[in-house]
Amino acid sequence: MIQIDDFLTDLQNYQEVQWRNPNFGIEKPAAFTLADVEDAAARLERFAPYIAKVFPETQATNGIIESELKQVPKMLTALKDSDELDFGGKLYLKCDSHLPISGSIKARGGIYEVLKLAETIALDSGTLKLTDNYEKLTDQAFQELFAFYEIAVGSTGNLGLSIGIMGAKLGFQTTVHMSKDAKQWKKDLLRKRGVSVIEHPGDFSEAVAAGRKTSDTNPNCHFVDDEASRDLFLGYSVAALRLKQQLIDRGIVVSTEEPLVVYLPCGVGGSPGGVAFGLHQLFNEAVKLIFVEPTHAPCMLLGMYTQLNDKIAVSDIGLDGKTAADGLAVGRPSRLVGEVVEPFLYGETTVADHRLYHYLCLLKDQEDIFVEPSSTAGFAAFSDVNRTWSHENPQLRKGTHIVWGTGGKMVPESERIRAYQLGK
Ligand SMILES: *Cc1c(COP(=O)(O)O)cnc(C)c1O
Repeated sequence: MIQIDDFLTDLQNYQEVQWRNPNFGIEKPAAFTLADVEDAAARLERFAPYIAKVFPETQATNGIIESELKQVPKMLTALKDSDELDFGGKLYLKCDSHLPISGSIKARGGIYEVLKLAETIALDSGTLKLTDNYEKLTDQAFQELFAFYEIAVGSTGNLGLSIGIMGAKLGFQTTVHMSKDAKQWKKDLLRKRGVSVIEHPGDFSEAVAAGRKTSDTNPNCHFVDDEASRDLFLGYSVAALRLKQQLIDRGIVVSTEEPLVVYLPCGVGGSPGGVAFGLHQLFNEAVKLIFVEPTHAPCMLLGMYTQLNDKIAVSDIGLDGKTAADGLAVGRPSRLVGEVVEPFLYGETTVADHRLYHYLCLLKDQEDIFVEPSSTAGFAAFSDVNRTWSHENPQLRKGTHIVWGTGGKMVPESERIRAYQLGK
C-alpha cells in the first residue's frame, strides 16, 4: 500500500489543501490533438439544425448548445470582502449551470456522445450523408432505426439527464443507472421523458459497474462510460473553442502577463479534463488551469498525487466520499484524465461543503444567480489561490479569472430554497 505522508494525512483528516502539480510543464505525448477537438466541434455544427428544431430553446443560438460568459463584479467585491483577497483582475462565471436542454456541463459531453452514436448508426445505414441537413433526423424512419438500439449510462444525476433527454428524443431505448440516493426529482424528470431509471444501492461507481454489466449482455447497447469515454472528453473540450471566441468578442486579450485562470469543479474528471485540454491547446502557458474537489471526495487529487490515478479510490485512505456537491461525489477518478492533464494542470484545491453553501448564498444575493453546490466550488478555489499561490506568482492576481459554473438550471424551486436556507 501507499506511504501516508503529511499531505495524505491532511486529506485523511478532511482538511482543505492546495496542491501545486510538480509535473506542470513536462513534455509528454498527448492522447488527443486539437484536430480531435475541431472534429467534435464540426460534428456539433452538423447537428445544429436538428437541435434547433427539436429543442426550441436553442433557436437563439441556431442549435448550438452554449452558455454565457458573465462578468460578476458584485460577487467579486463581496468575495474580496468576505475572504480578504488582493485581486486586480476580472472575475467571470461561465454559465454552464444554465446550458440549454439539460442545465449542466453534461449537456456538452453527454449530448455529444449520443449525437456521435446516432450519426455513426445513421451513416452506416446509408440513410444519412455528412452533407445532409440533419433536420431530417426528425423523420419517423430515423426514430424507427434508433429504436433498435439502446443507450445505457451510470450516473449521479446530471450525466443521466443529458444522455436520457437526448437519447429519448432521438428515439433510442435509454436506460439510466443511478445510485439509490440520487435526487428524486432527477429520476422523476427522466421517467417523464420515457427513460427507464434503474436504482442501485451503493455509490456512483457501483451504479456504473452494474450498468456496464447489464449492457454487456446486449450487443445493440451502447454504454456511456463516464470513467473512460473519449467521446465525452472531446464533447467537453469544444467549450474551449467557444470560450476563445467569447473572449475575442469582448476584446479580452490573454497573455502570460494577463493570464486566463480557470477554476473547474472535478468529479470523475471528464468535464474539467476536456475543457482544460482544449484551453491548453489554444492558450498554452497563458492559461492556468485549476481543478477543485470536495474534501470528502478528492479522487483526482489523490490519483494524481500518488500517481496511481484510477488505481486508488478515496475509500482506500479511509474517506467516506460523502458530499452535498452531487456532481463531485466520486470516489475513483477517470482512467483517462489524470494522465492527460498531468503536463498542464497547474494545481488543485479542495473545499469543505459548508463553503459551497456560503458561496451559493453570496452568488444568489449579489448577482441573483442560482447554481447548485458543486457549481460554487470554483469560487473557493479562486479565493484559496489568491490567498496562497499569488504571493510567489503575482500574475495570478491579474488577468481574466473564470469560475466554471457546472449545474443548477434544472434544480426545482423547493430544492433551491432548501439549499439557500442551509447556506444561511
Ligand atoms: C458532472 C459534474 C461535474 C464534474 O464533471 P466530471 O466530468 O464528473 O468531473 C461538476 N459539476 C456538476 C454540476 C456536474 O454535474
